[in-house]
Amino acid sequence: MEKILSDFLEMVRADAISRDERKVADILLAKLRELGITEVYEDDAGAKVGGNTGNIFARLPGTLPGAIMISSHMDRMPQGFGIEPVIENGVVSTKGDTILAADDLGGISAILDGVRRLKESGKPHCTVEMLFTICEEVGLLGSLNFDYKDIKSEIAYALDSPGHIGRIILAAPHSAKIQCEVFGQAAHAGSEPEKGKSAAVGAAKILATLREGRLDHESTSNFPIVNAGGTATNAVCDYAIIKGEARSLDKQKLLDYIAYFEDHCKKTGEEFGVQIKTEWSLGSPGFKVPADSPSVKLMCDVFADMGVDANPEAGGGGMDANRFNYNGLQSVGLATGYFANHTTNEHVFLDSFLRTGEMVEKTVLRYSENLESYKV
Ligand SMILES: [Zn+2]
Repeated sequence: MEKILSDFLEMVRADAISRDERKVADILLAKLRELGITEVYEDDAGAKVGGNTGNIFARLPGTLPGAIMISSHMDRMPQGFGIEPVIENGVVSTKGDTILAADDLGGISAILDGVRRLKESGKPHCTVEMLFTICEEVGLLGSLNFDYKDIKSEIAYALDSPGHIGRIILAAPHSAKIQCEVFGQAAHAGSEPEKGKSAAVGAAKILATLREGRLDHESTSNFPIVNAGGTATNAVCDYAIIKGEARSLDKQKLLDYIAYFEDHCKKTGEEFGVQIKTEWSLGSPGFKVPADSPSVKLMCDVFADMGVDANPEAGGGGMDANRFNYNGLQSVGLATGYFANHTTNEHVFLDSFLRTGEMVEKTVLRYSENLESYKV
């Protein structure tokens, strides 16, 4: 069995979840040692987020100038205990009652394989920085609490996206959580309903006339949580709440939508005669890396060399690349062959996955040999 696959299966079988990445981290630390990487440390992010494991940073010094960072995360979604991987017809999946955790142990295995190949090739290369984060799945908390001051790289890849090898995620949306509380007037529903004002009806009017769903080609919103505070059918409802989110690749569009939402709620509430209170908070920052930027060009060149179709496109979710860009690293996401992540149907195509180590190796070598062409 290929080493990349046996590494992957070993880590998949080690139980882990956000804030308890210990078993995966210990396997990873041993594998980094085996690879002869001596510059390794675990930071204190675990303590900061109430977990038992920190981010692991490793550096393979090069003999050529320059440095490039590659990253993946150690935690996984819930339903990731007792995973029994099944390999059939070139696909790794599970027995069906757990996730597979190819998101993101596929990324970790790819990085280890890439470094192994790099060392075995004996070719001179630049410095390789590796960051293995915790708590990606619960709000990018590992990459939020990592200290970037010693990072020498200008470019960072997050090996953490669904799809076949070749898929490049060059943008992720900015997001916000948004809510609207509606305050009506309670009254006896049978004897004096005219003295009441139904918050449930107010909320319904707000939602029925709200612009939501697909807003434009790079913006969406969704309000799936609607609770009315009524407890008995004989009283007019005096409280309701609408909760949702909005996303846009363009931060200004997101802010404009929030302003529209607040205005819409206020106007609709006034017309109907209920009080309104809106609240919102921004999520992790999004990013948009132009298709002709060095980090994307480098990958397109590597994929051309590998005979793989490059497929740069925007993604819809958040990942550590969001935080890397925010911290001044140019960063895009790379797919490693998994599909249906975050579900018990998660599976990985071996024809894609088995080439991800080669992808890492070629990315480092190409960058090392053409530093000036990929200057950020
Ligand atoms: Zn992930």
